[in-house]
Parts: sequence; structure tokens; C-alpha cells
Amino acid sequence: MWGPYLADHERVPEWSKETLKILRGLAEDDDSGVTVREGVEATRIEMDPPAWIADLEYSECPPTELPDGFVRGWQYAIPVADMPVYLKYLEDRLKQAGGRLEQGVVTSLETVTPVDASVVNCTGLGAGELAQDADVVPVRGQLVEVENPGIKKFFGEYCQEGAEPTYFLPHGNRVVLGGTHERGRTDIETDAESVAGIIQRCVAVEPALQNAKILNYRVGIRPSRPKVRVERVRLGSRHVVHNYGHGGSGFSLSWGCAREVVNLVLDIQQPPDREGDVLPYPPADTQLGSPSRRMAAWISPPKS
Ligand SMILES: Cc1cc2nc3c(=O)[nH]c(=O)nc-3n(C[C@H](O)[C@H](O)[C@H](O)COP(=O)(O)OP(=O)(O)OC[C@H]3O[C@@H](n4cnc5c(N)ncnc54)[C@H](O)[C@@H]3O)c2cc1C
Repeated sequence: MWGPYLADHERVPEWSKETLKILRGLAEDDDSGVTVREGVEATRIEMDPPAWIADLEYSECPPTELPDGFVRGWQYAIPVADMPVYLKYLEDRLKQAGGRLEQGVVTSLETVTPVDASVVNCTGLGAGELAQDADVVPVRGQLVEVENPGIKKFFGEYCQEGAEPTYFLPHGNRVVLGGTHERGRTDIETDAESVAGIIQRCVAVEPALQNAKILNYRVGIRPSRPKVRVERVRLGSRHVVHNYGHGGSGFSLSWGCAREVVNLVLDIQQPPDREGDVLPYPPADTQLGSPSRRMAAWISPPKS
């Protein structure tokens, strides 16, 4: 779901706002896996709402509508993605734009980059080794997928960094329940104690989840870093544009950071005629300015 969390950089507000705009546009496309969903974010201690809430239309929840144990909350609508559908959609778009996918393990940024060319490094946690960056830290997160007993709105706990957030997100006939915040842990085994804790906390917020049938367990590792790294470095005559360390906000910052990356790559290449290429994306109603036009130009198929 969109909402900056566990990611630090002075440009997070700009990147997340740009991403919000594009995701809202994508939600108009039934094939994208992105929809705009209403829900509630609430806190157990007296806190002001996150600053990014100013980018949304929101209203304060009446205290009577808050779950037990919560003292303040806000209602708003945000883009959420069914990730397998969204990733497939992005893959198809890449291919339509003339891109090619090859899978393999990269052992050196230098040898993978052709001489006088550039490579974009989006290896998440892998950047720790590949870019020899000791600041990259894993923060494990666990999810439980259950049958949807009829829940239509998401719920998210706004809590201090490091705490275990409680949240659930309906996706059609499934609901994804979370979560955990396990710093330094990289194993991907399902942890029964965490599962029990997630279910217990979610049921306390939404009793309808009490007997929901468990469908699946999922574990992911957030690639956390004290500061998101989006920058260009030189390796001799080669260039690497780093784009990693997005912690719990990889989806929420994705389009804003991608635009930044494209601009960095174009600045390296300085092609003379990219600005005028045909723009297959983003959808016309997203009203994007010049930098995004440059990004769309970059993913356009080469002219024959
Ligand atoms: C439980 C959970 C819930 C989350 N919920 C949200 C949410 O609601 N909203 C949100 O914005 N974010 C959320 N996140 C965070 C989000 O998933 C991450 O920020 C995002 O996945 C980071 O994307 P990335 O592409 O930088 O890294 P990754 O997703 O980790 O992808 C990196 C890729 O690089 C590959 N790779 C690494 N090293 C190498 C190598 N040497 N050679 C070749 N390939 C390599 C990896 O295999 C992987 O495919 C959540 C994370 C978790 C764990």
C-alpha cells in the first residue's frame, strides 16, 4: 500500500507524492493490479498524523469508531497493489516498450557494466554485498493471508519505528494480515509465534477475522538503510546509478525514484532527441511534467 514507512531521505516527500500521482492514474487501468482503497490509519498513543497525509484528502476518525486501544485515527483513500498482478503488469509494459528480461546473479557491478555505459543497481538487500555498503540492513516482515470474511477497508497502525505494526488489507476474496519488524533477521521460515501474534492483533481490531481460513504465509525482507541511496557513481569509464535502501517504502517511492534514476542516466548519456519520443505511458490523466516525459521516452522502444 502507498504510505512512506521506514525510509529516510530529504526527498521522500517529493518521491512519494510523485508516486502517489502515478499510482492513482494506474488505478484507472483494470489490468494494473492497482486500486484505490479506503481505510483507517490509527495510533495507540497520542501522535500527530504523518506529514504525508497532507497529500491526501483525509478526515479525523470519531473516537467511537476507533478499535479498542487506539486513541486517534484518520480515514483516507490510497492506492494499493495486488503485487503479483502489478509486477506482471510492469513486466508486460517493459516488454511492450522494447525491454528484455534476463535473470542471473551479478557478482560485480564493474564487470556487468559495459565500458562507457551505465548500469542501474536496484538490488535491494543484495546491494549490501554488491556495492559493499555496510549501511544496508535487513528488516524482516511476516504476513498471513486469510479468506476474506467480507472486509472492504484496510486498517493500518501508525506506530513508532521499530514497533510491530498491526495492519490488514483486503484484496478481493483474500485479506493480507501483518505484520512484523524484525531487524537483522534474514531467514524466510514462517515463525509460528509471529503468525499467532499477527492474527491476535488483527482480530482485536477486526473481530470478523477471528475464524477466517488461513490461505498462506509470506515472509519478506525490507532492504533498510539509514538513508535511501539514489545517486550516480563512476567506476572508471563506467557509471553506476544506485537505487536501493527503500526499507518499507519500495512501492510508495517507486515512481518518484525511477524518475530520478532516469534523469541521472539521461544526464550521463545526454541523448540529443529523447524529449520528443512518443509517450506510451503514463495515462494521459496523470498530468505529468517534463521529467516524467523523459522517463517515458527512456522506456519507449527504439525508433526503427
Ligand atoms: C512484509 C512486507 C510488507 C511491505 N509492505 C510495503 C507496503 O505496503 N508499501 C511499500 O511501499 N513497501 C512495502 N514493503 C517494502 C518493499 O517490499 C521494499 O521496499 C521493496 O521490495 C524494495 O524494492 P527493491 O526492488 O529495492 O528491492 P527488492 O524487492 O529486495 O528486489 C531486489 C532484487 O534484486 C535481486 N538481487 C539482489 N542481489 C542481486 C545480485 N547480486 N544479482 C542479481 N540479482 C540480485 C533480488 O533477488 C531481488 O529480486 C514491504 C516489505 C515487506 C517485507
